[in-house]
Amino acid sequence: MNRFEEFTTHMVQQVGKKEGAISPAIVNSASFGYGNSETGEGIFEGSVKKPLYARMGNPTSSQLEQILASMDGGVGAVAASSGMGATAMATLSLLRAGDEVISIGGLFGGTYSYFTETLTRFGITTHFFDVDALDAIEETINTATKILFLESVGNPNMRLPDISRIAEIANRHGVVLIVDNTITPLSVAPIALGADIVVYSTTKIITGNASALGGAVIFRAISEGEDKFKSDRYHDIHPFIKKMGSMALIANAKKRALRDFGMSANGFGSYLTMLGLETLPLRMDRIVTSVETVAKALNEKGLNVNHPCLPHHPHHERYLNQFSNGCGTLLTIDMGTKERAFNFLNRLKLITITANIGDSRTLGLHMASTIYRDFDESTREFLGITPGLIRISIGLESAEAIVNDFLDAANI
Ligand SMILES: *Cc1c(COP(=O)(O)O)cnc(C)c1O
Repeated sequence: MNRFEEFTTHMVQQVGKKEGAISPAIVNSASFGYGNSETGEGIFEGSVKKPLYARMGNPTSSQLEQILASMDGGVGAVAASSGMGATAMATLSLLRAGDEVISIGGLFGGTYSYFTETLTRFGITTHFFDVDALDAIEETINTATKILFLESVGNPNMRLPDISRIAEIANRHGVVLIVDNTITPLSVAPIALGADIVVYSTTKIITGNASALGGAVIFRAISEGEDKFKSDRYHDIHPFIKKMGSMALIANAKKRALRDFGMSANGFGSYLTMLGLETLPLRMDRIVTSVETVAKALNEKGLNVNHPCLPHHPHHERYLNQFSNGCGTLLTIDMGTKERAFNFLNRLKLITITANIGDSRTLGLHMASTIYRDFDESTREFLGITPGLIRISIGLESAEAIVNDFLDAANI
C-alpha cells in the first residue's frame, strides 16, 4: 500500500463520525461556560479538559489538530489563523532577543520578510543558506542558534533538500529543526525523517479549494530520557517539560503564541480544512503524477521548465531516491522576459492567475511583478526569481488538457 492509499482510509475514518452527525460539528462560540467555579479553576489549571476561551482553543479545531498530528506522527498539533501564523507560532514560541535562526532553501516570500524585516526588529538574526551548503550551515551553528528552518521544496526555485542529512546535523548539534511542509503534506514526513516541528499553511493543498485561510504546527513528543529540549539552549521550555512531559511543546506554543499573540484558528475554517483533508490523499496522488506529465511534455516541446522530475535538474537523483511520493503541485517556467511571461499567462485558458498554490484548479503567477516585487536584485537572485519566471500550481484538471492549453498559449 503506498502512502496515499493508506491515508485515504485514515482521513475519511478520522474526519467522519460513526454515530450521530457524520460531518464534524462547527463550534462557533467565542467563550464557554464552566458551570461552576471549581470547574473553572480546573480548566485554568489544566486538570479539567474543557474549552477555556476560543483564543486558547476550539473543539472543532481540536479535531483538526488531532488528525494533523496523526498524519505526521506528532504528539499533538496547534491550529493557527494562517500559515504565517503557524510559522510565527513555531518560531516565536522558542525565540528570544539575541537568538539566531538558520534558514535553509526556499523561501516563501512572507517567511523571508518575516525573518529579515520583522524578527530583526526584535534582535533575532537569520542566516540564509542554499539546501546544499551543509558545511557552511554546520559552521554557522553556535550557542545562540535556536532553530534550523527548512522548506521541504524550494518555492519557487524547486530545489530539494536532503532532509535526513539536515536533520542529522540539527540533532548532532542539539538544535531544533522546523520544516515548512506546506507543499508536500503526505509526500514528505518530516518527523519520521528527524525533524522536531512541522509547519503548514493549510490554506494551500490541505484545504485545497481556496475556502479557508489557516495553518497548523505539529510537534513531536519530548522524550522521557535524553532530549535536546532539555539542554540549556532551550531553558525557557524547561518549566513546561516539568509540568507537561511529552506534551511540553504544545503547552508552550499555546501559552506563548495563542494566549499572548492570538494567532488562533476559528471553528468554521477548521471545519472546511477537515473537509479538505478527507480528499487530500486522492488529490495529492493525482496531482504529483500530473505535474510530472505536464513538466515532461512542456520540456520536450522546448519550454524552459523547472521541475526535479526532469533529468537535467540538479536534484533529479534526490527526487527519485528521496521524494518517491512526489514534491507537490508546483513547477516553474522561465519565459525569458516579463513581457513574454505576461503574454503567455494571459493566453492560458485553464489557469487562474493568483498568488495561491495547491488548489483544485491550476493556478499561475508571474513572480517578479507580484510576490517578489519588493525584493532587491541580489535577494531575487538568491531566491531564483528571474524576470520571466512563472510559477504554476497544477490542479485536478486532466493533465492532457493542461498540456494542450499550455502548448496553445505558447504557440507550439
Ligand atoms: C502560503 C505559504 C505560507 C503562508 O501561508 P498563509 O496561509 O498564506 O499565511 C507559508 N509557507 C509556504 C511554503 C506557503 O506556500
